[in-house]
Amino acid sequence: MLDQQLKNLLRHTDITFQAPSFDAIEVKDAATGVSLAWVKKHDRADVEAAIVRAEHAQALFKQQSALQRADLMMAWYQLILKHQQDLAQILTAEQGKPLSEANGEIKYAASFIRWFAEQARRIDGDVITPVQSQQRLLVLKQAIGVTAAITPWNFPAAMITRKIAPALAAGCSMLIKPAEQTPLSAYALEVLAMQAGLPRDVMITLSGDSVDVGQTLCESPIVRKLSFTGSTEVGRILMQQCAPTIKKLSLELGGNAPLIVFDDANIEQAVKGIMNSKYRNSGQTCVCANRIYIQDGVYDAVSQRVIEEVAKLKMGDGRLADVTQGPLIDEDAIIKVQSHIEDAIDQGAKLAIGGKRLAPDNTFFEPTVLTHVTQSMRVAREETFGPLAALFRFKTEDEVIQMANATEFGLAAYLFSQNTARQWRVGEALEYGMVGINTGLISNEASSFGGIKQSGLGREGSQYGIEDYLELKYMCIDLSE
Ligand code: NAP
Repeated sequence: MLDQQLKNLLRHTDITFQAPSFDAIEVKDAATGVSLAWVKKHDRADVEAAIVRAEHAQALFKQQSALQRADLMMAWYQLILKHQQDLAQILTAEQGKPLSEANGEIKYAASFIRWFAEQARRIDGDVITPVQSQQRLLVLKQAIGVTAAITPWNFPAAMITRKIAPALAAGCSMLIKPAEQTPLSAYALEVLAMQAGLPRDVMITLSGDSVDVGQTLCESPIVRKLSFTGSTEVGRILMQQCAPTIKKLSLELGGNAPLIVFDDANIEQAVKGIMNSKYRNSGQTCVCANRIYIQDGVYDAVSQRVIEEVAKLKMGDGRLADVTQGPLIDEDAIIKVQSHIEDAIDQGAKLAIGGKRLAPDNTFFEPTVLTHVTQSMRVAREETFGPLAALFRFKTEDEVIQMANATEFGLAAYLFSQNTARQWRVGEALEYGMVGINTGLISNEASSFGGIKQSGLGREGSQYGIEDYLELKYMCIDLSE
């Protein structure tokens, strides 16, 4: 149940707290299954009307100075920080992650707004040395126009701000389709954006059927750019749907992150990195270590320490003080973790700890460790997206680089070694968009987040994140009379 203070933050025409007469999506508490609210199920006509509103809003918004836009964004940033605890409560209720992690996500989400508010004033073009002396050549950067975002449930706040912050800084408007399970965080952010003074309709949240809303956004010639975070499978569908209108696309897709521990690693640092990277958000992050490769000489010591740390984790309702592991998002998530464990054990892996769901009527799953995992098992090829640490053994550096790169994904990778030459050598050889060296936590607003291969297109955050929301315009001025 949401208390009155949280309901106040969700005062939006699309939300009701009693079963409504209109077509709606029920949002449930992730830990208890109790109804939290209902959000409007927008149909295609609603989405088309919203696109037109976003177009009108953007035409005015782009005329504001960069400084005006930056000031509005900073006001929004401050309001988010002021309501950090409330936003975290809403996030934990609908998504399930522990309150401490939800608080961290809200701060992380806000950091993108501050970063891109600062960047808004630095969207500089270029003056090019001319080919002919009577000409002047310029490159301007202009807002791309109306944009859209489709976001997942695992980071219901940060995946939105990472997209809309550069859009607003550039002078774009954005239509946002949040995941079905977690729309409340999106609406709460929109409510605060309006309170901060951002113009109406530069941010429009559109809950609804993903196929209907997604297709309408993709097919619209008015929407000039789509940014998607989610599975590679859905990314492919969206790419096809965007082809007829040649829409600019950013795709943050699935991963299958290797985490490599060499014999020369600091073992405690590596164990901390494994725990941070694997069990945050109950293993439901796209940059989670999915394959943990440990060199022969330290395999037993590292495995033992990981098992000890996993034994200390506590599952439960994320609102309770010492809980570190919330529920998984749904039954399908449970089935996937179970199937990876069964397949691995059938092929010779050993269950060291965990391995089963807490009860059939909820979606909590024990933090699990499997040892003796090999490349032929499903967990080596597919992203588990759950609290399963799969420990592989390797002998040489060349062997592990080959194993780590043997996937169509290329989002994040990690390595632990005290040898500087090896850090560079292996860091450069890993075919991934991001590499963490002696750390399991790599995300922040100043860094370029994104993958290569089938993990996606484009980068979010950093000085590069705004580029996808800008068009280059070349101007050639002839000075001859
Ligand atoms: P998903 O099934 O692809 O869903 C993500 C979003 O896409 C949701 O809003 C979903 O809406 C929507 N969607 C689903 N089918 C659609 C369709 N046919 N047309 C338009 N929209 C559609 O992914 P997920 O299971 O929620 O998220 C987990 C995946 O996201 C993992 O693979 C993870 O690695 C990836 N991820 C990547 C990053 C990154 O930055 N690279 C970050 C986080 C997560 P509904 O919920 O309403 O169905």
